[in-house]
Amino acid sequence: VKKQEEDREELHKLEEMRERLIRGLEIHGTEEKVLKAMLRVPRHIFVPEYARRGAYIDTPLDIGFGQTISAPHMVAIMCDLLELSEGLKVLEIGTGSGYNAAVMGELVGQSGHVYTVERIEPLVNFARENIKKAGYENVTILLDDGSVGYSSYAPYDRIVVTCAAPDIPEPLLEQLKPGGIMVIPVGEYTQELIRIKKDNEGNIHKEKRGGVVFVPLIGKYGF
Ligand code: SAM
Repeated sequence: VKKQEEDREELHKLEEMRERLIRGLEIHGTEEKVLKAMLRVPRHIFVPEYARRGAYIDTPLDIGFGQTISAPHMVAIMCDLLELSEGLKVLEIGTGSGYNAAVMGELVGQSGHVYTVERIEPLVNFARENIKKAGYENVTILLDDGSVGYSSYAPYDRIVVTCAAPDIPEPLLEQLKPGGIMVIPVGEYTQELIRIKKDNEGNIHKEKRGGVVFVPLIGKYGF
């Protein structure tokens, strides 16, 4: 009984920390629906056990294999730029912990779907466990080189790359639907976050959305 009480208290503490963190993201001008989605996803489930207390600090955290779970404000910025809504089909390159996929899963709802590709097998297993614990059925995690996209489920309404590419991979542009949006960090040591909109005629429009730092995209169209 004492253990159950302690667990309940710990959970309550984590929930309070989450509320404080996410409300703090309002200063970035994050849309309310993105904040609401982030309030619903328990980030502490997506970090290794030893880092739990750090889950509600606005910082990237080590998830092993030289990789990180992105900082919450970066997740918020990317989800905002993607203009996510119910029913959309999303492709993410770089699953990592699965946290960003879960937040996007909240935003696209049961009528939408998130396909997310990761190249490191133990991280695929880690993310699958996390997604299962958090209870998302609209997120599918795939083991592959995502620098070529994932043609089996293409085309996608939205594509997000959560690692830095040397250039915008051509297959990703092809797998984006007309009217679709892609967000991708491009550059070697530091990167520019680029938002790409494909219009209904298939023309590509690019916008620079600020400097960022991500781990590299490794693969055929990566470094
Ligand atoms: N979105 C993740 C999250 O919510 O935890 C964080 C992603 S982490 C910053 C970048 C990830 O991209 C790493 O897990 C890395 O292994 C993965 N990655 C790098 N190149 C890749 C590729 N070609 N295909 C798939 N994943 C790749």
